[in-house]
Amino acid sequence: MQKILNYINGEFTEPASAQYIDNFNPAEGKIYSLVADSDERDVEKAAQAAKAAFSEWSALPVERRSSILQKIADLIDRDLDKLARAESIDNGKPLQQARNLDIPRASSNIRFFATAAIHFASEAHITGTEAVNYTLRSPAGVAGCISPWNLPLYLFTWKIAPALAAGCTVVAKPSELTPMTAFLFSELCIEAGLPKGVLNVIHGLGPKAGQAIVEHPDITAISFTGGTVTGKKIAATAAPMFKKLSLELGGKNPNIIFADCDLEQALNTSILSSFSNQGEICLCGSRMFVERSLYDQFVSEFVSRTKALVIGDPLDESTRIGALVSEGHMKKILSYIELAKQEGGKILTGGNRVMGSGRCADGYFVEPTVIVGLDDKCRTNQEEIFGPVVTITPFETEEEVLGYANSTAYGLSATIWTENLKRAHRVSAQVKSGIIWVNCWLFRDLRTPFGGMKQSGVGREGGWDALKFFTEAKNVCVKL
Ligand code: NAD
Repeated sequence: MQKILNYINGEFTEPASAQYIDNFNPAEGKIYSLVADSDERDVEKAAQAAKAAFSEWSALPVERRSSILQKIADLIDRDLDKLARAESIDNGKPLQQARNLDIPRASSNIRFFATAAIHFASEAHITGTEAVNYTLRSPAGVAGCISPWNLPLYLFTWKIAPALAAGCTVVAKPSELTPMTAFLFSELCIEAGLPKGVLNVIHGLGPKAGQAIVEHPDITAISFTGGTVTGKKIAATAAPMFKKLSLELGGKNPNIIFADCDLEQALNTSILSSFSNQGEICLCGSRMFVERSLYDQFVSEFVSRTKALVIGDPLDESTRIGALVSEGHMKKILSYIELAKQEGGKILTGGNRVMGSGRCADGYFVEPTVIVGLDDKCRTNQEEIFGPVVTITPFETEEEVLGYANSTAYGLSATIWTENLKRAHRVSAQVKSGIIWVNCWLFRDLRTPFGGMKQSGVGREGGWDALKFFTEAKNVCVKL
């Protein structure tokens, strides 16, 4: 069976423990590869390699770093089909989504930051006629980048690209549930001529390998994307060590639909924002609020479009809903559907595990599920489910829906559907989320600040924010 090895100091390396974790194909419910079960000994080797590579990499002209990174992006484009298939098999997501979204976005993440770093200019502050201040920015050192399983290569590259472009060296850990594309990516780094030790990829469990990265004294900046509970643990470890910390955490995003929306667009996009990637995107709108006068019509059309979604073999081109990432995650989602029923929710469609056919007979499939009749304060409407489950709640006024939208501990993203321009701006300003989409969803410009408020995170990624995170600013004041 294929072994997914660590990539340390430019070479593939067995874990110090010589132990491996089973890696499942979630569409089949079967083990198909083995992942290195790394620990603090592997992290130590990776941190030493990254530390040794830092002085040369950080001193390279930015154009040179940029061209190596762009070579890696070219190789991702060349291997699009291979990487998309690997991502689909490892995660359970539909192949067409991996091919159209995940892998192209991984290459654009790298291209974007490889070129952004060239244009990253210093600021100057002129203090009247008395002094000139200018900002020097130096790479932050060895960065630890820890990413989740839902958009594996997409989020892995979203972290390591700005770190490497800024001149940091990196110890990265993808999720143990979806390690395959980070492993294939390591092969591309070797082919592209990335110098040894600049990127090191450690595979393994979060509380063991991930925690060792966060605890390592030579890894001075931590960029983490994952769940809020894990984020708290990471902050508790990193804060007393005074590490730089960027946390992109969970969400419970509202999708607010006013009666004056473009109904066809709102319906089409809401199907995507609810069920894309089986609802396993931190930005999915899991709580839908529909203005009362449109409610009945919207719900009936939304339910009929949900029923039409094709669930099944992720490798089949017609599939729109693939498998959930793991058996444990599937059970969690089914338990939330049970909770919704206990809380008085009515399931309008879905609610069950789907038994696939052929090779997918034991896969982890759950029907896209629409629930109504729940109070906004109940657990189903407050806790992150992270699956193909949405609730729909009617509202009468802007004030009422803002109360619902802002009622959770999270504040990652929100979507607002209205043709009324003034209302769009007014409501956008009052929703407590870091990312607002008006009449669209997941429309991304990589220059914009990305991140959450409240328990959805600390700090912002994207554009200059990411390059600032991976550099240390120093002000030089020259008296005139
Ligand atoms: P997770 O928190 O369980 O794991 C994320 C990563 O952290 C994995 O690589 C894991 O191995 C590692 N990890 C776990 N414990 C650790 C520890 N103690 N120290 C260091 N690393 C540790 O999250 P997940 O289940 O992989 O991903 C789903 C979550 O991610 C959801 O909550 C989702 O909303 C969130 N997410 C957020 C964003 C965003 O941009 N805000 C994007 C995608 C996913």
